[in-house]
Amino acid sequence: LIIRNSVACKTCGYIHTVRVYLGVNPTQIHNFNCLGCNEEISISLDLDLQNISAEFNFLENSEPAEQEGSVINLDPAFPINKDLLNVDGFSTRIRQVHALAERQRELLGHSVSMPLEKARNILEYDIKEEWKNLKKCWSLSKNGRDKLAKREIEEANEKYYRTDPLDSYKDWLFRFCFKLSGKAYYKKFERIAKQLNLAAKSHEKFKKFHNYFNSELFTHHQDKYFDILKDYFIAYDTFNQIHIYTHTDLEIPSNSTLSLFEFDKVKMFYGNCYEIITSSFETFACLNNIIAGREFDTFETITLKKYKTFDKSSRHNPFSSNSDFSCICDCLNNNLRNASHHASFVNDSLNHTIKYRSGKGGTGSEETIKYLDYILLCENIVCSIAVIMQIELMLNSNYTSSTQ
Ligand SMILES: [Zn+2]
Repeated sequence: LIIRNSVACKTCGYIHTVRVYLGVNPTQIHNFNCLGCNEEISISLDLDLQNISAEFNFLENSEPAEQEGSVINLDPAFPINKDLLNVDGFSTRIRQVHALAERQRELLGHSVSMPLEKARNILEYDIKEEWKNLKKCWSLSKNGRDKLAKREIEEANEKYYRTDPLDSYKDWLFRFCFKLSGKAYYKKFERIAKQLNLAAKSHEKFKKFHNYFNSELFTHHQDKYFDILKDYFIAYDTFNQIHIYTHTDLEIPSNSTLSLFEFDKVKMFYGNCYEIITSSFETFACLNNIIAGREFDTFETITLKKYKTFDKSSRHNPFSSNSDFSCICDCLNNNLRNASHHASFVNDSLNHTIKYRSGKGGTGSEETIKYLDYILLCENIVCSIAVIMQIELMLNSNYTSSTQ
């Protein structure tokens, strides 16, 4: 379903005909740059999903117009082919929906064709809504409000987990991470879990690490994950346009771009994720020491104390030759991290790109990255963090090596 309306820019009077695709959130906000003066325009839709109706709102720098103008397609759930951004009359979505339905069918291993309706339900599952509930439960648990947290879990069981009820917020978080990172990241999870199991076979050494992890690292890491997931869902409308692609490991059609890019909400996101994931590498580095036959805090040539002083870009070095651990590192881009972390990105909205300088302190050559590629990297790093969260939740429980 597409909602069509005429929108005039309050700054220069230029008239646009916006064609907005409907998503699954009750309110969807869209920002785009005026085709006349390039100033940002903001509109929103309030959806009534039961009665299939939508109310169109004019927010920043926008007002109603009588006649039609230049077409702008806006889609909250899919990227749009660059050549179709301003084309009227046909769906920019249809091919993508079919490719994704097909991919879901492969991943779920159905031998017979899945009804399109079912594929659609999977595609349109609203993870943002579940996050709101989980966030509250997690926060209550962090603050020791166990009774109130338990009530949230009971509600979640009713809403999302009827057939297989949750027993704690950690159980919820663990399953939510699966939903977030998807089947594509499950393989990485399995590889790392295998290494965890291997380390746990060295009972005495593992026990020492287990104590250290639970007293020194777990809560500290959890606090960081809570903050970064909060940031992720604040900017979810931007991420949601490609989330289904990272989730299913399907290649995004070439020449695609995003119709929504909330620069202010995402510009520091990659850098913040980078800090968090590389700090968490300590867990893998210690496990890797045990697997190599050493104590968890003894590296080949250095001590744990020295390791902690390493620059974030080197924290994966001690386990880089163990491919089951290092498979999580392909989301790392140190140049982009520096620019994102130090907020030295420049938004080029006309070309749908970000400009930044490489090198430490931004002294290197000027680089360009497309909006879509930047968001894809953000998606990959947040899914990688979700995998690490799962491993750490396993470690936090009374983990012992399985007999296999
Ligand atoms: Zn304008």
